[in-house]
Amino acid sequence: MSDALPVLSAASERPLRKGDVDAGDWNDWRWQLRNMLRTSEDFSQIVPLSDDERAGLLRTKDLFRTGATPYYASLMDAARSDCPIRRQTLPSLSELAFRDEELRDPLGEDSHSPVPSIFHKYPDRCLLYIFDRCAIYCRHCNRRRIVGGDTPPKRDEIEDALEYIASQPRIRDVLISGGDPLLLSTRRLDEILGRLRQIPHVEIIRIGSRVPVVLPMRIDDELCETLAKHHPVFVNTHFNHPVEITEDSKRACERLVNHGIPVGNQAVLLRGINSSIRTLRTLMRALIRMRVRPYYLFQGDTVLGTDHLRTSVESAIELMDGLRGWMSGMAMPQLVIDAPGGGGKIPIGPEYLQELGETEVKLRNYRGLNVTYPQPREKDPFVSYDEVFFAGIPEDDDREGGE
Ligand SMILES: *Cc1c(COP(=O)(O)O)cnc(C)c1O
Repeated sequence: MSDALPVLSAASERPLRKGDVDAGDWNDWRWQLRNMLRTSEDFSQIVPLSDDERAGLLRTKDLFRTGATPYYASLMDAARSDCPIRRQTLPSLSELAFRDEELRDPLGEDSHSPVPSIFHKYPDRCLLYIFDRCAIYCRHCNRRRIVGGDTPPKRDEIEDALEYIASQPRIRDVLISGGDPLLLSTRRLDEILGRLRQIPHVEIIRIGSRVPVVLPMRIDDELCETLAKHHPVFVNTHFNHPVEITEDSKRACERLVNHGIPVGNQAVLLRGINSSIRTLRTLMRALIRMRVRPYYLFQGDTVLGTDHLRTSVESAIELMDGLRGWMSGMAMPQLVIDAPGGGGKIPIGPEYLQELGETEVKLRNYRGLNVTYPQPREKDPFVSYDEVFFAGIPEDDDREGGE
């Protein structure tokens, strides 16, 4: 009896439902991470899994990472497998239907990586990859080749990446991403932000994170105060559906903003999940009400196993047509395609300019009304005061060079 091994509780016995968990644990972000749901046993505690979800979990297990916090899983609709939270979290068998055009690295990041942990595509900004874990592994993830694996960026790689940024005076804007950077300890984030702030040419720092959506309890005052020490710091988060906006996620975003951190949103258009005008309008309006500024709406990247989640470009443009003009301009995201292979983000309409003439241009407004705009007589945009304002400052044409 004395040397009997302790009986470990099976995964299915771990309490994962909000009502069964001590409130102190539930509100502890580290508890949420330790208890992320990963398996059929875990998820079937929350919702009765559909056949496709069950088979998807089993058959994609060795291909793509799956996982979500108990908090995010608590938003699942037990009655409907088309629930936006379920569809973003639980794999479908459709992920196995690969297409030739789909890629492990759809945005050509690995070929724009001068040193590990840096993706540098634009002249004046780069992406700094500092952590490989997330608090949700999205089904549409465009970095699924590297996240959640066993290859977290190493400390000396991050050192080299910081040195690279220091060596490139053209970099004014550093976008810290992952994985999810806000899963690192506050102390480590403070260290990395402090190092970036010592580089004189780094003007702004932004953090890309889904934490406000999937792990809002992480956004505490200590984190916000730490980020605010390194201003100007911006956060871009990733809400895709209004059902993700809860008292908790709202409080997280508002706390960031109250610390002077502007919060933007980069949503991904997902077929059958948020691809309706009504859903998009409701999402954008809910975001702006909590002072989160819609930034981009992405046409789905051509990531391996995500064809079933992409909309056609014509439906994407039609959806945007249902937003612009009908909704506060403050709540308007820009629709972009992130170029396959790494050419950067490209805005794709809708097109309002119908005809560009010498003397006039023809436009249409959001209601389809045709409008004529007369061109000025003089065309040359020369600014003579530039000679005074920039006197002695060398020309800095950011259109030259770059990756
Ligand atoms: C998206 C992205 C940026 C930032 O682009 P913005 O249009 O300035 O938001 C920078 N670097 C990389 C590698 C990116 O993917």
